[in-house]
Amino acid sequence: MAEASRVAQRPEHMVVIGAGLVGSLWALMLAQRDHHVDVYERRPDPRIGPVKGGRSINLALSDRGWRALEKAGIAKAVRNISLPIEGRLMHAPDGALTFQRYGLPDAPGLHGDPQCIYSVSRANLNRLLVEAAEAHDRVQFHFGHKCTGVDLAHKNLELQSPEKKVITVAYDRLFGTDGAFSAVRDRLTRTDRFDFEQRYLEHGYKEVAMQPDALGAFKMQKDALHIWPRGEFMLMALPNPDGTFTCTLFAPYAGANGLDALQDPSQALAYFERNFPDVLPLIPDLTTQWATNPVSSLVMTRCFPWHHSDSVCLMGDAAHAIVPFYGQGMNSGMEDCSVLSELLDAMESPEDWDRTLASYTAARKPAGDAILELALRNYVEMRDKTGDPQFLLQKRIEAKLAKTYPGRWLPLYSQVTFSQTPYQEALAAGQIQDRIMADILAMPNIQENWDSEEVAETAIRALEQSQVFA
Ligand SMILES: Cc1cc2nc3c(=O)[nH]c(=O)nc-3n(C[C@H](O)[C@H](O)[C@H](O)COP(=O)(O)OP(=O)(O)OC[C@H]3O[C@@H](n4cnc5c(N)ncnc54)[C@H](O)[C@@H]3O)c2cc1C
Repeated sequence: MAEASRVAQRPEHMVVIGAGLVGSLWALMLAQRDHHVDVYERRPDPRIGPVKGGRSINLALSDRGWRALEKAGIAKAVRNISLPIEGRLMHAPDGALTFQRYGLPDAPGLHGDPQCIYSVSRANLNRLLVEAAEAHDRVQFHFGHKCTGVDLAHKNLELQSPEKKVITVAYDRLFGTDGAFSAVRDRLTRTDRFDFEQRYLEHGYKEVAMQPDALGAFKMQKDALHIWPRGEFMLMALPNPDGTFTCTLFAPYAGANGLDALQDPSQALAYFERNFPDVLPLIPDLTTQWATNPVSSLVMTRCFPWHHSDSVCLMGDAAHAIVPFYGQGMNSGMEDCSVLSELLDAMESPEDWDRTLASYTAARKPAGDAILELALRNYVEMRDKTGDPQFLLQKRIEAKLAKTYPGRWLPLYSQVTFSQTPYQEALAAGQIQDRIMADILAMPNIQENWDSEEVAETAIRALEQSQVFA
């Protein structure tokens, strides 16, 4: 490696690559464990100038993320920059609206709110996390530094400085939180028996902003995630605390309804007139934004293991990049942080990284695979089923079951979003529930009798039997 400027060796020199949502949170948690941490981020400081992203402007934060933020002592600060979203509001092609609450009735939520998810700006959250980590004098951020190589044998990193110089840095523990195209993970793919797969969804997305009205107020219901389900594609709108909505069209690239056929803003205008006529007057500058904003792709990755010996660990999208349809990418990355931290808590001192990292992979890899599967399924549910009366009936029956049998029937959405149940257990429970619900929906006169005791008892009996035989 070229010019060597080694960071002075201290006991346990922790290096984090990537100061995104997961890396900056993890740096904070390491500092809280009394570690010295250097964070290297290829982008400029997000607190200076506009954030260059190319990814979603805002994100839905839910219980798994909150749990990690709580552990790091910054949940209250994040709550101050987030907006509660109580349910999804479906917009049918004829303009009819159906609201579906996310949380269960009477279930206690967080922060004194009803059970809900929270919209937060990616840029504001990232800035807050960097600030919180940097408030510790043991944490140092190095922006504009891109990791270009890892020497696993000698525990050295190669970085490109803002002046385009190559520098090397020694580490004791290296945390790859450098996102879906992780350089740290890339190095691990060249170690023995490291599995890696990457796949792109055949659908992409484009975001456009809906500005507030002349008085600065939201133009649509502000406590809802709006969905226009249209079969193979959908439009979504998530409100931001500043009165805007971030609207995202998810669609296949190819085909008559595809993004490839919408290159020209006039084609986009005709598409919106045809498919989302109620939205069009609310985004008067649609064509201007369409011409400027990029179409982005959706990548999924899986790898194994998520660590290398006792010195390298992958977290967040670097370990598990998933599609965004369950709103769990960041949440699961933050859960990586709380789980790893809890594993360290459970160790007698000094921290035993060998055992901890092995336990981390064992706990998190099945969870990462499961949330990818769940997120893929939820895309079909959101774009295809949320407008389907049978699906809405199923949701009503499930809410009734959850109320009648608290703790025994927890809808899949609640398990994923409002619980800490490992994702793989939620996935397995959801598959059983799906089979039972298919039988229930096939019962005669279910439309009239959906909230009868007979239906509830049949469902819970079937659940108990499936658990006995599971
Ligand atoms: C359209 C869309 C909507 C989404 N909505 C949600 C949602 O509602 N809820 C949710 O929970 N999740 C959502 N996600 C997922 C979420 O964005 C990611 O899971 C999350 O950003 C992962 O955080 P991370 O820190 O692991 O990675 P990133 O946010 O990608 O951060 C990685 C950081 O590493 C840096 N980096 C990369 N390479 C290098 C290198 N070689 N050297 C140094 N630094 C490097 C990058 O610049 C970046 O700052 C969404 C994703 C998309 C695409």
